[in-house]
Amino acid sequence: MMFGDNDFNLTICQLIRKYNLLKHNKHMHSLGQNFLIDEHLLDKIVKSAFPINESSCIIEIGPGPCGLTRSIIKHCNNELICIEKDLNFKQLHDNILKNTNKNIKFIYEDALKINLNNLTNKTITIIANLPYNIGTALLTKWLLENISKIDNIVVMLQEEVIDRICAVLNTKQYGKISVLSQLLCNIEKLFTVSNKAFIPSPKVTSAVVKLTPKHISLENLDKLVELLDACFLYRRKMIYSTLIKSYKQLDKNNISDTLNKCRILPKYRPENITPIQYYELSKCLL
Ligand code: SAM
Repeated sequence: MMFGDNDFNLTICQLIRKYNLLKHNKHMHSLGQNFLIDEHLLDKIVKSAFPINESSCIIEIGPGPCGLTRSIIKHCNNELICIEKDLNFKQLHDNILKNTNKNIKFIYEDALKINLNNLTNKTITIIANLPYNIGTALLTKWLLENISKIDNIVVMLQEEVIDRICAVLNTKQYGKISVLSQLLCNIEKLFTVSNKAFIPSPKVTSAVVKLTPKHISLENLDKLVELLDACFLYRRKMIYSTLIKSYKQLDKNNISDTLNKCRILPKYRPENITPIQYYELSKCLL
């Protein structure tokens, strides 16, 4: 083999060349394959998840050429489970496994179809450079399915999505993902990342965000999601009209009373309602 047999000794660019990952991969675009090649940045992302509970299982989505995976292995002794959809990386992953004695597993599946709770009995720390096209969908899924088991989530995404996650009340960016993330987690936008740190360069600016679950007990989140879907589908409509349209089983007086009880004015638009008000409203609409 051209570069020797231990992939830990190669740079990410050398790995990409060795396994022909740019030339032979027709899935690059659809799978959001923009690989991080800056090792300092990779270490910085992993360290952003510190302190990591020793008994937490780290889950990485989309290890690809293993830049982030190698940094996780370098800095953490935790069990590590990596979920990758593209089998083109398997040979590289097998080499990584061969050259480490850490507890690592690669699973070749669509991360959108996996319930993380089924992968481990331990608590979970997610560290990933997410495929941008499914970033919001993955985050929403984890918030709804896995929140009670999650210690921390540190992910890179396009900055625009992170700005929506962090968006404050009464702004255009405030939406379903802002409400769910802010209701369930404390959120920190950590740093932005230059396009030069990737190969190939993404067209959008990237950033890293940390979500730390508040671990408060909230019930019937599916009802909250139903309410958020209805409200943000009609972003320009007043909440009173949206509820009349979407909750046909309730009469107008009932809706007025419910809004009043939650201290929401009927004329409010979806971006004027706080996460906790949404949650209270969803409970009253059960
Ligand atoms: N971790 C690498 C890095 O930081 O350079 C690669 C990150 S790249 C932005 C996204 C990775 O997610 C790719 O390896 C891609 O194949 C993988 N991926 C895309 N969609 C996926 C899915 N639905 N399930 C699991 N992995 C997926």
